[in-house]
Amino acid sequence: MIQTLDERQQKIQALRTSISERGVKHFIDGAWADSVSGETFETATPIDGSFIASVASGDARDIDLAARAAARAFPAWRDLSGKERRRILNKVADLIEARADEIAHLETLDTGQAIRFMKSAAARGAENFRFFADRAESAQDGLSLPTQGFLNYTIRQPIGPVGVITPWNTPFMLSTWKIAPALAAGCTVVHKPAEWSPVTAMLLAEIMDEAGVPKGVVNLVNGYGESAGKALTEHPDIKAIAFVGESSTGSLITKQGADTLKRYHLELGGKNPVVVFADADLDKALDAVVFMIYSLNGERCTSNSRVLVEQEIYQEFTARVAERARNIRVGDPFDPATEIGPLIHPKHTEKVCSYFTLAAEEGAVIAAGGQVIEGNFVQPTLFTQAASGMRIAQEEIFGPVLTAIPFENDAQALEIANGVKYGLAGYLWTNDLTRAHTFAQQLEAGMVWVNSENVRHLPTPFGGVKASGIGRDGGDYSFDFYMETKNIAISLGTHKTARLGVSQPQPARDEADRKLAE
Ligand code: NAD
Repeated sequence: MIQTLDERQQKIQALRTSISERGVKHFIDGAWADSVSGETFETATPIDGSFIASVASGDARDIDLAARAAARAFPAWRDLSGKERRRILNKVADLIEARADEIAHLETLDTGQAIRFMKSAAARGAENFRFFADRAESAQDGLSLPTQGFLNYTIRQPIGPVGVITPWNTPFMLSTWKIAPALAAGCTVVHKPAEWSPVTAMLLAEIMDEAGVPKGVVNLVNGYGESAGKALTEHPDIKAIAFVGESSTGSLITKQGADTLKRYHLELGGKNPVVVFADADLDKALDAVVFMIYSLNGERCTSNSRVLVEQEIYQEFTARVAERARNIRVGDPFDPATEIGPLIHPKHTEKVCSYFTLAAEEGAVIAAGGQVIEGNFVQPTLFTQAASGMRIAQEEIFGPVLTAIPFENDAQALEIANGVKYGLAGYLWTNDLTRAHTFAQQLEAGMVWVNSENVRHLPTPFGGVKASGIGRDGGDYSFDFYMETKNIAISLGTHKTARLGVSQPQPARDEADRKLAE
């Protein structure tokens, strides 16, 4: 159904009013709550900086209430049958689908991401719940490892209450990607969303409550990283932290959690290369390269923010990217035709734009964009003639900014591709089969796509190497994180146990003692 501009504006206004009247609160032990301190902060839309809602600003006291609630709720949720967990999580998916339009609009309001992408992000949120719901019954499955005289078998058991800390880019989808497997595994959760985009986490908590997730199983505490986030990583009842955010924050979190010996899954930053060889299907490569840097405002961990192009096609290929970049529609993120909306926050806009000046200082060419349009709206930008050592080729800019670097041969391409501290994703465009396999295996990245943009298949592992993270999500990999694997060894009654304190050792005993000493 096509909406008129008026209808669209009325709908957005109605959503804004409902959120601003309610305010964004914590959800602890099945109830909405203000902070113990009474403190709040404001969330504003990056579209024009106007107020959306006041947000409860949690600290260690709110986290303590939430973590204790999660600990109390854990035994009953752990012991619920996988079948019942599956039913509840499928209900969550149904309710996300029913409210997908509202979720997408509020996400666009809060983050500035174009509505065309937020609609699919909301749908993906439901898909995440459905995917892990279907695996709830088999989450505990293990291996049978028989040996002579023994049957060994492994089972997986949920680790306990876990903390989920999410960033501001596509916050709804990312929250579901963490919370759904945790719940399917039988863990309880305390979620701390990012302070720049807290609105849709509230919707998710509301939906899970309505779907019948028992009280205390999922708790939401809003607040700043250095207060609420830090307290969550330090809380003794929280057994593991699933974190998505910057590499420097990931490192801080591991330090903060050291005293309570937590398990971490860290999904961190990236400076992902897309390597385009002259033998590739260049039309397809062009579409993919443009999509993977300029969609989602370039605020995407798996964006191909470095394009490495073989020398002989470098001029032509980068000219085509520049032309596309200049044609991208930047504007009102609620307009279905818009491709890039405003960046998340004035501070982030300032950071992204600082690279425009830097590119010129470093001697690169600004082949497209390089200007602020207005407020948080920036031009899709392409830097050409860049060298791998430049900061524009090394640092995560996290905006619609692409750095193009030429290369002469495979070895040089690989050296440049791997010559950054990050290692999240890599993309490769070639029709040479041997090169595709060899190069893909040598790329320092957790995930490689050959002749494709990022197309996710949920059972496959997701995660990075080097400064891009530790651990994997996806399918069974998620259960390895949220669960402990236990080995149970059952004797079949045939093995001999060494006997101590027997004065006259029998020959068989001697043999057993000898084995023990081995
Ligand atoms: P960030 O690290 O600043 O914040 C992420 C979250 O951590 C927020 O909720 C924040 O409040 C919290 N936090 C901050 N300091 C903390 C502390 N000391 N203790 C506990 N929590 C703390 O990241 P951001 O700017 O919100 O997000 C952008 C980053 O996220 C980029 O680097 C991007 O690449 C990364 N990211 C990675 C993936 C991935 O899958 N690898 C996905 C999305 C985003």
